[in-house]
Amino acid sequence: MTSVLNYRQLAAELEGVPDLMFATPGHAPLAARLAALGPGMIDVHTHAIDPDLPAIGRTHEGRFPSVRRVSADLAQIILDGRVYREIDSRCWSVQARIRDMDAEGVAAQVLSPIPVTLCHGEPVSGAQALATAQNEFLARMVAAAPERFAALGCVPMQDTALAIAELRRCMDELGFAGVEIGTRVGDRELSEPQFVPFFEAAAESGAVVFLHPVDQTLDPRLSRLRIGFGMGMPTETATAAAGLLISGLLDQVPGVLLCLAHGGGTLPCALPRLAVGQRVVGGVTEPAKLATTQARKLWCDSLTYDVEGLRLSSERFGAGHVVLGTDYPFDAREEPAGAVLTAAAGHVEGTANIARENALALLAAAGRPRTESVRLRGARWDIFLASA
Ligand SMILES: [Zn+2]
Repeated sequence: MTSVLNYRQLAAELEGVPDLMFATPGHAPLAARLAALGPGMIDVHTHAIDPDLPAIGRTHEGRFPSVRRVSADLAQIILDGRVYREIDSRCWSVQARIRDMDAEGVAAQVLSPIPVTLCHGEPVSGAQALATAQNEFLARMVAAAPERFAALGCVPMQDTALAIAELRRCMDELGFAGVEIGTRVGDRELSEPQFVPFFEAAAESGAVVFLHPVDQTLDPRLSRLRIGFGMGMPTETATAAAGLLISGLLDQVPGVLLCLAHGGGTLPCALPRLAVGQRVVGGVTEPAKLATTQARKLWCDSLTYDVEGLRLSSERFGAGHVVLGTDYPFDAREEPAGAVLTAAAGHVEGTANIARENALALLAAAGRPRTESVRLRGARWDIFLASA
């Protein structure tokens, strides 16, 4: 017999199994939930927010968004005293989301913070408080329907040690699939050496690192041209990812699961030129070090709105490295979920796998529980271990 052991009741009887904890208090670990997942698609790119998010800006120095409830169904995200975005209960209601998921054939959604709340460039104490509050909220949403939801948490990237601590809490205590991060940390680039330990910790714990652009970090020129969404965000993602590819991070930290939002933005188009630049400017001759080769280690979502865009993402990153993403529940969402996959069926390799199987493969590392088997009271028990 194999059972999940409640160590709080029985830890005293165990010897030689140190540092025990539940992987996911209150519900089964992610791996077990994925194994029991019903039929349908897995949407890896959706957003959620607590309508009662604490007003971090009142208690911490810095520029932080807050949420103003307008009615039971409506709220506003406020930034700099102005309405940043009108939102509705699909952002926080498990029932509303499941209704939509059922209507569109989505078996599971991966919830992530709304990018405006990542706040990597703000003072760390407020960013940490906001990350913690958001992760508690996401954990509550997952716990309300663990068979339908997984989560990517929020981490205060401006302090690597605190980011690692919150990442580990997300993975080991809250049972998350990984974390979502922005494309830059204030003035610092993700490819700078100080962030390597963060990516190492993510790789160790099997965390997906979902790289998502944040419109507050874009060049103001793009807003003036009114192309922040259309050109700024995909270029921002591509710039950060290209920096990581060129830096050699993916060799330095093998196994890091870096997934790019929006089909990788403009990166798929730029990769061949990046490789030429490496040769011409950087003197790189080893094929394995070229961005075109390194990009095969990246993942991306399918949110391209375009069959040819999806085809290029799939060719550049690999057909097995594209997962369904929709930006639910916002105006820019793909509706219905998987529309581009339907349009691409027969034209792009592996669209059925993009809808589901690729996500299961991506999430498998995060869901892999660290277990140790022990015999107790005549039975074999699998015990979930805290991170080593
Ligand atoms: Zn998004």
